[in-house]
Amino acid sequence: MSHDPSDPALRTEALEALLTERGVVEAPAIDRLIAYYEEQVGPMNGARVVARAWSDPAYRARLLTDGRSAIAELGFEGPQSEHLVVVENAPGVHNVVVCTLCSCYPWPVLGLPPSWYKDPAYRSRIVREPRAVLAEMGLALDEATEIRVWDSSAEVRYLVLPERPAGSEGLAEDALAGLVSRDAMIGVARIPPP
Ligand code: FE
Repeated sequence: MSHDPSDPALRTEALEALLTERGVVEAPAIDRLIAYYEEQVGPMNGARVVARAWSDPAYRARLLTDGRSAIAELGFEGPQSEHLVVVENAPGVHNVVVCTLCSCYPWPVLGLPPSWYKDPAYRSRIVREPRAVLAEMGLALDEATEIRVWDSSAEVRYLVLPERPAGSEGLAEDALAGLVSRDAMIGVARIPPP
């Protein structure tokens, strides 16, 4: 680690040391929180939700009707998912998620947001020119495809249910989950055939 005073890791360490020393926080509690977000929470949770929806039509229907409850069925719940809405991609319809105001994101299913998601350029441009931004990110959609941009808020968080790729028909749920990327669940990528 570099010891540049502006290094965020160093500043975080100093802040943690100070708060611990003053008795504001306890080191084991911070360790538990970090381990939780490193090991238990991340896009692998959302991937399991998507794989279940692809495998089980009744689950898919519940997921699209009441995202929060259907996701809680798999054990994923917590802050930033109280009102979780799942939007489904289909031929001719592509969904993409943003938070124009800040960085609202469905933590329990996707973990913490990537830095580009918090970038002011993504947040403003994806609304004005979604087709161009998606193309720059490697997802070229033809003019006939309708793009729906969903603006997250403190109230509502969104998860994209991507299209199941061709060639995945014979795959079991675990293998399907392995195909699902974080970016596909934000809506800036498609899932390539296995
Ligand atoms: Fe936000």
